[in-house]
Amino acid sequence: MTKHIDPVCGMEVDSSRAAVQETFGGKTYYFCSAHCRESFAKTPTAYVHAEKPDDKKTLGAWARTLLRLTKNGPTTAP
Ligand SMILES: [Zn+2]
Repeated sequence: MTKHIDPVCGMEVDSSRAAVQETFGGKTYYFCSAHCRESFAKTPTAYVHAEKPDDKKTLGAWARTLLRLTKNGPTTAP
C-alpha cells in the first residue's frame, strides 16, 4: 500500500487502488481516474516539470515565507 500523488489533480492515490497508471521518463505515475491520465498523456511535461530538482529553489522561497509567517505569528510565549 504505497501512496502516490496524482500529478494532475493532486489527489492521493494508492498504487494498489489506482485506476490507471502511466510511465513517463522512467517513472510510474498513478492516477485517480482515466480522465486524469488522459490529461497527463496530452502534456506530461506540464505535470512532471514541478517535480524536477529545481524544486529546491521553490522550497527556499517557501521556507522563507514560512519563516516570515512564523515571525509574525503568535509564537511568543507569555
Ligand atoms: Zn486525478
